[in-house]
Amino acid sequence: MISLGDAQARVHAVVAALPLVEVVVGEALGLVIAEQVVAPEAIPPFANTAMDGFAVRFADLVNASDDAPVELPVVGTVAAGAVAERPLAAGEAMRIMTGAPIPEGADAVIMVELTESDDSTVRCIAAVPEGNHIRPAGDDLQAGTVVFEPGTTITPAHIGVLSSVGRTHVAVHRRPRVGVFSTGDELVVGPVSLEPGQIRDSNRPQLLALVAEAGAEAVDLGVLRDDRDEIDAALRAAVDGCDALITSGGVSMGDFDFVKAVLAELGDLTWMQVAIKPAKPLAFGVLLGTPIFGLPGNPVSSAVSFELFARPAIRKMMGRPDTERTHEWAIADEVLARSRDGKTHFQRAVLSQESDGWHVRSAGGQGSHQLAALAAANGLAILPDGDDVNVGDRVRVMLLS
Ligand code: AMP
Ligand code: MG
Repeated sequence: MISLGDAQARVHAVVAALPLVEVVVGEALGLVIAEQVVAPEAIPPFANTAMDGFAVRFADLVNASDDAPVELPVVGTVAAGAVAERPLAAGEAMRIMTGAPIPEGADAVIMVELTESDDSTVRCIAAVPEGNHIRPAGDDLQAGTVVFEPGTTITPAHIGVLSSVGRTHVAVHRRPRVGVFSTGDELVVGPVSLEPGQIRDSNRPQLLALVAEAGAEAVDLGVLRDDRDEIDAALRAAVDGCDALITSGGVSMGDFDFVKAVLAELGDLTWMQVAIKPAKPLAFGVLLGTPIFGLPGNPVSSAVSFELFARPAIRKMMGRPDTERTHEWAIADEVLARSRDGKTHFQRAVLSQESDGWHVRSAGGQGSHQLAALAAANGLAILPDGDDVNVGDRVRVMLLS
């Protein structure tokens, strides 16, 4: 067996951030900016009103109150997207809508709730300070401001900001295309009834979702039979269009575990028995520069193996600074059973954040075939080699969401 750290280092050594491309801003969610983004113009570009109401001169309203409203003639209306037809003079008001430019001559806005008006006049029942409800030009960003530095991960808010400064495209590390196969003669797909010995393919849909959640483009490459030639042909055909490949099944010690054998022939393969539970076997190969992750077949094993090996690699390809999930220390609220076997155990766990920090309990059955407990889990408890973790012990945990 090799240590988890050594196994991860072998993957890390052959994976690099993908080349830079310009993408449409709306398709850049989760990607990493590879340029310095500068605001070419001020945001907002002009002084405008934050409220629906009336543009006024604040000096005209200093004595306005409920008991003594100040009445002003309404000399125009400014809608968002329009400009006032003429400047505002002393003793006048203009109806104005949120986002509309402040008319020349006005220095405050009184919100509509503090007024009563008809077509031609408005009665103001309160004084307002100078600049009231006016959003100055450049209040959000001045022209020339560096908005984002390279290395920034694009969230929905970043897409909003890029759009606000007029960017339609942005330079990023290309989004990896990651192809996913299942392997196994026992696997069936779709709404069919099971024949004896058959099970439904759950790894491929789960791994495709994990790939998408990691931020990559998931490519469904279907199910392969336990057939050496079929696996060989499929892997050769797939490396071209993908930046990484993921298979599940066929990497253990069984008679029909051909993925390992094919990878050994095709590319630079490392077959590892990693000192972890679940997910001990891992076949990791590189074919024509494309990393191939041969994950174990048991559903929990393939998911844990994805978390530990494939996800960090995908994030590195994306140029993401956060290649790893968040880790915390948690207090065990119940015994987490294990025995000494030379391996680090990754137990499906329910984590909760309480006033004294994170707490952890088991999410249920810990067999590598027991997917239900994985769905109930929001984290993995990382138990170093040794005996049971007792109530009150501190445990390292990995947050899955
Ligand atoms: P293997 O690694 O191919 O020996 O498979 C180990 C276990 O995982 C067996 O019980 C398989 O039936 C099961 N398994 C393999 N692939 C899948 C899959 N795609 N979906 C669900 N179970 C699977
Ligand atoms: Mg199999």
